[in-house]
Amino acid sequence: MRVLITGVTGMVGSHLAEYLLTMKDVELYGTCRWRSRMDNLDDLKKEGRLNIIAGELEATPANRGDASKLNLMEADITDPFSTKRVIAAVRPDRIFHLAAQSYVPVSWTAPAETLNTNIIGEVNLLEAVRAAGIDPIIHIAGSSEEYGLVFPGELPVKETNPLRPLSPYGVSKVAQEMLAYQYFMSYGLKTIVTRGFNHEGPRRGEVFVTSSLAKQVAEIEKGLKPPVVYVGNLFSKRDWSDVRDFVRAYWLASEKGTPGEVYNIGSGVAREVREMLDILLSMTDVSIKVEVDPARLRPSDVKVLVCDATKFKRLTGWQPQIPFEQMMKDLLNYWRERV
Ligand code: NDP
Repeated sequence: MRVLITGVTGMVGSHLAEYLLTMKDVELYGTCRWRSRMDNLDDLKKEGRLNIIAGELEATPANRGDASKLNLMEADITDPFSTKRVIAAVRPDRIFHLAAQSYVPVSWTAPAETLNTNIIGEVNLLEAVRAAGIDPIIHIAGSSEEYGLVFPGELPVKETNPLRPLSPYGVSKVAQEMLAYQYFMSYGLKTIVTRGFNHEGPRRGEVFVTSSLAKQVAEIEKGLKPPVVYVGNLFSKRDWSDVRDFVRAYWLASEKGTPGEVYNIGSGVAREVREMLDILLSMTDVSIKVEVDPARLRPSDVKVLVCDATKFKRLTGWQPQIPFEQMMKDLLNYWRERV
């Protein structure tokens, strides 16, 4: 089976690639941009499991996909031509569409770019699939940020909850989901949407709160910074899972999900940023002060998000396996090796 991951250089994409490379019958392709950071694929590169394909796939023997490796091709999802070229060349049986502007705060400073990448990018992908005349299963990575404003009586959030997004990112993810539905209804494309609650772990971008705090602790331990960590809103509550549990969930969604449907994925446990920080601080011997940095506060923050993943768990039997503390420890160790 040919599987394509868009945004394979991202946190989720790189973990999903490693997971799929453990499967015998998967021939794996991924997209990057010419300027993509490749750090997340370093382990695969070191192990000789990265095959960079230049130009057209299969135009020359050196450009054939290698079943034991991640075959990397260039495509900017906002560019319909490069997207079409990759889809036509790979003709995937399954697509995990992860490429996105994925950071909520950037969606306030660069709303048009966020909407363009996430919405028009998906249109380009779906149109490329139609143009290639193929019938793959297409997983779309929606987000808990689609729920946005959630009232206390609505927790934990079910798929049936109203969507009240509070950021351009949230809006872009709602639109991604609507497009997936519309292409399923109009053209029969087998789109399956997940609304993923936060997932973290090694390789999490340093702008995200778990990673930003873990990196600051690692820098303080090395004496690179004074012993103060800077935080935004300590009281927002999030449902955090480990990305390595999530990539199993994404695979199960593509195996067992019903096209046209939407599934929540998350742990069902909400923790305040404060609690996450306390756990992190308990993992270091250094005494560290905590200060709120107003620049890290958001114009309209989603206060609390907790997932009801009953629908997905019933369908797939998925359960998270990696404890929260382990995830934070692995993230801290990831930064300890890098700063
Ligand atoms: P990352 O930001 O780590 O990765 C995003 C990926 O998208 C990168 O590979 C990036 O490549 C690529 N990308 C961005 N713009 C383009 C473009 N124009 N063309 C092609 N590729 C592009 O995000 P995650 O791995 O954390 O998230 C993956 C997906 O899951 C995203 O869609 C995100 O919105 C969604 N999601 C994530 C959640 C989480 O908690 N992690 C929660 C819910 C949903 P480059 O290096 O070139 O920028």
